[in-house]
Amino acid sequence: MLNRFLGKFSHDVGIDLGTANTLVYVRGRGIVINEPSVVALNTKSGRILAIGEEARRMVGKTPAHIVASRPLVDGVVSDFEITEQMLKYFIGRVHADSHVFFPRPRVVIGIPSGVTEVERRAVEDAARNAGAREVYLIEEPMAAAIGARLDVQDARGNMVVDIGGGTTEVAVISLGGIVLSKSLRIAGDKLNEDIINYAREEFKLLLGVRTAEDIKIEIGSALPLDERLEASMRGRDLITGLPKEIIVSDKEIRAALASSVETLAHSIKEVVEQTPPELLADIMASGIVLAGGGGLLRRFDELVARKTQIPVNIADDPLTAVVRGTGIVLENIDKLREVLVETESSGTPK
Ligand code: ADP
Ligand code: MG
Repeated sequence: MLNRFLGKFSHDVGIDLGTANTLVYVRGRGIVINEPSVVALNTKSGRILAIGEEARRMVGKTPAHIVASRPLVDGVVSDFEITEQMLKYFIGRVHADSHVFFPRPRVVIGIPSGVTEVERRAVEDAARNAGAREVYLIEEPMAAAIGARLDVQDARGNMVVDIGGGTTEVAVISLGGIVLSKSLRIAGDKLNEDIINYAREEFKLLLGVRTAEDIKIEIGSALPLDERLEASMRGRDLITGLPKEIIVSDKEIRAALASSVETLAHSIKEVVEQTPPELLADIMASGIVLAGGGGLLRRFDELVARKTQIPVNIADDPLTAVVRGTGIVLENIDKLREVLVETESSGTPK
């Protein structure tokens, strides 16, 4: 009764707590927050200085006692307290412009598939401590599939590949459940590291992470491109210690990324090989769906299609698929309850 009363005043929210980006969807309003999952901490005082975009601007530019950390580096809550603060901040910001005293929202949060019970509890507790009245958890590939408008409750097979910052998740979904899934630690961050290593080995050039990421997005690819692309790599010459700029081509960056990209495509192929034939027939007809920012790497979709012999489609706006999925769940909680991970709030076990 009280809950129902409070619920009237609060904004129910869906959250994609990604390793790279946190997005928040508010029922009736859409996506209201889309910021990097970064927290800047003063290690002397233990105080949080900034969260989100503001904290990201500090990455690599902070004095020694200030660290900009990504509390979810490998897709799980590696730093519980910081994650809780981050959730509190984002949930709080959603409510900052409403004039209600005690708005305790209902919250749907995407979590990586295959997280342990402990990790799951950590997210749930963080959300409760951050003020959530009811917490529903959904596995990210499921949320991505719903966000990509796949009918996950149908008796047909669907395959989703979500390539984020820290992890890639490959999942086969049917009848509201994940039939088969694989999670790997090769994703966007690893590609950035590949570019950093390449610059160091080939040119004795030390690059910052953000520079590496910009280059990946500007000219990165999985297969040869029709036209030559170039980008400038600016960093520090490891020999002279002075600034240096090198122009690189798409071909060079493709070579730098090749091994990780190959591993990714191979892992997807392995899941295809393990998929029961009936579901595989459905997936061949509808195609594999790519979500997450990593899915935007040039011609990666074609590489996967070649390897698996299955058509591949990139979800519309792949970076927001998971949060839009949590939003659809919020709006249809009764119909979609079965796709949720069991928690205190969700009631009946799956
Ligand atoms: P997460 O869910 O882990 O927060 P996202 O789905 O937000 O991750 O994706 C972030 C990753 O996608 C980052 O590693 C980023 O570099 C990468 N990314 C974003 N846009 C592109 C692009 N156009 N090409 C290649 N990678 C991209
Ligand atoms: Mg994600």
